[in-house]
Formats: sequence, structure tokens, C-alpha cells
Amino acid sequence: MAIHAVYPSGDASEELKEAAEICFQCGVCCVLRAHSCHAQYDGQFDPRHTFVYDCLGTEEPVENPNLWLCVSCHKCEELCPYDVSPVHFIEAMKAQAFEMGSAHPSVLSEIEQIVETGFAFPLTGSSARQREVLELEPLKITAQDDLKVITEETGLGTKLRRHREEEG
Ligand code: SF4
Ligand code: SF4
Repeated sequence: MAIHAVYPSGDASEELKEAAEICFQCGVCCVLRAHSCHAQYDGQFDPRHTFVYDCLGTEEPVENPNLWLCVSCHKCEELCPYDVSPVHFIEAMKAQAFEMGSAHPSVLSEIEQIVETGFAFPLTGSSARQREVLELEPLKITAQDDLKVITEETGLGTKLRRHREEEG
């Protein structure tokens, strides 16, 4: 299957399709241990079936749970000798999966954490104590009102609620 055929018609820009067409599946973005894609070492991939090609070459890309192993570090983009940018494909597919209600539950929880607190990690007693030891100011949640406005104005709040309703 041609790699650009992974996109349902009309969902990918021509630029992205062109970039996908020049992927030779050489594996450089995934197999240079310690320098390449961390998701490659999840245990289910090997040099003949790389994480990147698992994402780009699947028949139903937005239904692929492995998409969510990508942490958007952009190493693949830096390493690719052919100027392919797998991360842009993967991010586009994640966005599409979110729109279709297929986002991974852990991602939904992380988004909710951010929109509720402004922090991408929970503020625990342990982290508060560590900050005290390091003589750092305690972290405070100060942006709830602004975050609420942004979340609702952008439609993110509606999407999050819809995801949760569909789950429940
Ligand atoms: S994205 Fe680039 S480095 Fe990765 S397999 Fe394709 S051509 Fe090779
Ligand atoms: S951006 Fe995603 S696919 Fe690219 S190297 Fe990082 S984790 Fe791997």
C-alpha cells in the first residue's frame, strides 16, 4: 500500500501527502538506539516494523491506539534524511482521532488536568515538599478563570464533555 493512502480522502493537506510519498521506510528515524524515536522500544516494534510505519502505514490510522505513544518530540523529523516529517502526520491523525471521539483516555485526563489547573502534572504533596527543600515558591493555581473562558470559547469544553458522555 502506498504510504499516502493512509489518509481518508480529504483529510490531509497536499503537503503532508507529498512528504509521506517520499518515505522510503528506511527506519533511520526509529532504529538509531538512544537517538531515535522512544516509542520504537515499546516492545511491539522491530527494525522491519517500525513505530513510525505502524502509524503511517495502517489501514485505519485514527483507530490505531499506538498513535498515542508518540510524545511529539520531533526526533524523527530531525533524523530523517529525506525531509519527511512523520510527527506532523501523527499529530494530524491524533487531532482527527480526537475530533472523532477516539482519543486515548489518558490524553483526555491530561487535557482536563491542564484546563482545570494550568499544569500538565498533578500538584501533589510530594512535589510541594520537594519545592520546599529546593527553596522554590509553592505552585499556585491562578489561571482557572482564563482557562475556563479559553476552553469554552475554543469549543474544547464541548468536545471534552462529549467524549466523557460517550464513554459513560
Ligand atoms: S520517515 Fe524518513 S527516516 Fe523515517 S523511515 Fe521514512 S524516510 Fe526513513
Ligand atoms: S515525534 Fe513521535 S514519532 Fe517522532 S520520534 Fe518523537 S515519539 Fe517518535
